[in-house]
Amino acid sequence: MAVNYICRHCKSAMGSIDSTQISESQLGFHFLTLEERSDIIAYNPNGDVTVKVVCDYCREAIESNPELLLVSSPLQ
Ligand SMILES: [Zn+2]
Repeated sequence: MAVNYICRHCKSAMGSIDSTQISESQLGFHFLTLEERSDIIAYNPNGDVTVKVVCDYCREAIESNPELLLVSSPLQ
């Protein structure tokens, strides 16, 4: 089982970690609401977990062009 991080905007892979050594609480998932978890975390049929984050490139693009962000985040 692996945890794969991808950018939610450009879908680029941002790395993965083997989750056999860690728990969800160590990943920080327990800080998220159920709604946020379903939005950010996807459980694949093979047991892998996909976590949608924002890469540096897209973060900079959004900061310089906030109108690009179509979905508002409750964390901001
Ligand atoms: Zn991106």
